[in-house]
Amino acid sequence: MSVATTLLELQELDLALMRNQEALDQMPEVRELAKLRARYRTLKLEAQKMLGARKDIEIDVDDLKAQRAQTESQVEAAQVQAAGLTDYRAVRDFENELAGLAKRLDKLSFSLDQRTKELEQAYAQEERMANALKKVEQAVRESAERTRAKAGDLLAERDKLNAHRADLVHAVPVDLFSRYEQSAKRFKGLGVERLVGNKPTVCRVALQPSAMADLKHSGEVAECPYCHRILIRPVDAEEV
Ligand SMILES: [Zn+2]
Repeated sequence: MSVATTLLELQELDLALMRNQEALDQMPEVRELAKLRARYRTLKLEAQKMLGARKDIEIDVDDLKAQRAQTESQVEAAQVQAAGLTDYRAVRDFENELAGLAKRLDKLSFSLDQRTKELEQAYAQEERMANALKKVEQAVRESAERTRAKAGDLLAERDKLNAHRADLVHAVPVDLFSRYEQSAKRFKGLGVERLVGNKPTVCRVALQPSAMADLKHSGEVAECPYCHRILIRPVDAEEV
């Protein structure tokens, strides 16, 4: 099989793969599966945000606990110091200090209560999210199974086409293959045309004699001077 024939076969095959993909995309089961997967991704992102927010609260709670412990030991230290006081002014200063520490302790306890409640809420929220995620995961699995069962024929065809495609790709020089891929992309799958008489099969613009003459130097795989698709020429016929 010549490279030109291989290219044409590759194009037929890729068009068949495109039709196969379209048929798959149009199946309601496939659409449902895609929706469920999108839902799963959204929930997963939300769960990550929740985890981040909860960790922030945990850090806050730890910090508040440390501050409270520190303030409590400051109170204890002040009380030990106060036991030895006799001077009136020193006692008054001590009472002021103690009042300040007590106020601080109150504030810390209040914040700690608040943040601890928030932490409990965050844990509960995360648990609900974990359950929701589990449900969606299960739904994705079931939907994927249903899709496989219904799309079995199309998927088997796709596997066969892909296996055959790999053989063909192997038979095409690397440079030409990348040219083919670019052309296929640019012309939505119809990147290769054949020259029949003086007309290419896709753009169908009749070539002028001068263009036909130029093409004689190009070999079997040329380029259409009008649409710039890969142009397959019947070299043998011409040479006879
Ligand atoms: Zn053309």
